[in-house]
Amino acid sequence: MTNAISPLVAVNDVSMIYRTRAPNGEALETVALKNANLEINQGEFISLIGPSGCGKTTLLRLLADLIQPTSGSIGIGGKTPQQAREARAYGYVFQAPALFDWRTVMGNVMLPLEIMGYNLADRKARAENMLALVGLEKFSKNFPWQLSGGMQQRVSIARALAFEPQLLFMDEPFGALDEITRENLNLELLRLWRETGKTIIFVTHSIPEAVFLSTRVVVMTPRPGKIEKIVNVDLPHPRDFDTRESPRFFEIATEIRESLRHGHGYEGNE
Ligand code: ADP
Ligand code: MG
Repeated sequence: MTNAISPLVAVNDVSMIYRTRAPNGEALETVALKNANLEINQGEFISLIGPSGCGKTTLLRLLADLIQPTSGSIGIGGKTPQQAREARAYGYVFQAPALFDWRTVMGNVMLPLEIMGYNLADRKARAENMLALVGLEKFSKNFPWQLSGGMQQRVSIARALAFEPQLLFMDEPFGALDEITRENLNLELLRLWRETGKTIIFVTHSIPEAVFLSTRVVVMTPRPGKIEKIVNVDLPHPRDFDTRESPRFFEIATEIRESLRHGHGYEGNE
């Protein structure tokens, strides 16, 4: 997708201003992102962390070509976001699983392939592979409502991987889950990342989750949304439950917490 020198994702001085109208007709401008610069290499696991409203989802939506920046430019593997979208270069996992209840697990994972006109044999083979990757091969004939929240989110991860994209965007995918389920899914996601060599850009507002998963953590602050700091996570791999108890884990978590505080707005903002 890209050569060894150029980054996979390049965000160059990107700003995003939403223009809306108040009920009284007054024009409103929200600076959701201001002069963001970020380069992400192939194979990285990047977390975007920050309080609500600091522009995390906006940044993902810009990368995914769901919205276009007010200024600045974005490159994905040497393509524009639009070209990358058309080439199915990435998968997108939303906060809510957004599965169709009347389709089986397998039917849900096959849906994007169906829309793109893949033949049945191809659809089935890909969906089976992806379900195995997230450990749900035994549940392919179940319906989403028969699964737990964590399992549903694994189905949506499998669906996002259906086109075998190199790049995966995940917007607070485990935010609605209980702590234990979330920690288990964190472990699984790390395994999937290591096994597949994908590049993952992951939004969270949990500091432990960001530290545990990431190669680097991008700390964002609100009003206007900007990148405050990028923290390198030098914890060794493979990571496991003991990783969370290591002194280095706490040092990095503290660095992120202080940087969130420095940018203001974290405490009392949620
Ligand atoms: P986060 O994901 O970090 O919580 P968002 O990227 O969703 O933040 O939002 C950043 C800011 O932009 C917030 O102030 C939000 O209210 C505003 N915003 C987001 N989407 C829109 C939109 N479609 N129209 C107007 N304002 C928006
Ligand atoms: Mg968001």
